[in-house]
Amino acid sequence: MTVAVLAVQGAFEEHKKMLLGLGAKVIELRKAEDLKKDFNRLVLPGGESTVQGKLLRELGMFESLQKRIEEGMPVLATCAGLILLAKEISNDAGRCFQTLPVTVKRNAYGRQLGSFFYEGEIKGIGQYPMEFIRAPYIEKADEEVSVLAEVKGNIVAVQYKNQLAMSFHPELTEDTRIHEQFLSMID
Ligand code: GLN
Repeated sequence: MTVAVLAVQGAFEEHKKMLLGLGAKVIELRKAEDLKKDFNRLVLPGGESTVQGKLLRELGMFESLQKRIEEGMPVLATCAGLILLAKEISNDAGRCFQTLPVTVKRNAYGRQLGSFFYEGEIKGIGQYPMEFIRAPYIEKADEEVSVLAEVKGNIVAVQYKNQLAMSFHPELTEDTRIHEQFLSMID
């Protein structure tokens, strides 16, 4: 099993470390040529979704990755990664892959609550330490999307078919259960 981590901007190193620690093979996606390498999993890290979306197109990686996500390759998306997958963004005109039928709100917790920690329940996993950094939340999810976690009445983690997406940063904790679940998804 080889996981490709999008490495054009943001917190990709932390994902890499966690995945390597779990025994996965990891490659970085920095340019179109990297897409020729063999991989069967994708990680979309946190960072700045507008920058990542722009780079994906400029570097010629957008279409191929969108197709592979649509075809069922397991994806783990955190924070900005969730925004890249979202079908709709309520407070931004940019759109990226649009493979996840949810509406997200960027920087949804405002300035004062820019970053916060919350220990909450994730369906199928249990209590989990959630690190939020200028995070989005999901305002609306289609019926077929499975809601995995809510914080203060807002959806913060979902699964839809091959796409596992969350507002917070599991790669910044010591808790590897989300990455383990991702590695155990069937491709
Ligand atoms: N605020 C960022 C965005 O809108 C996401 C923040 C993050 O990934 N930690 O893209």
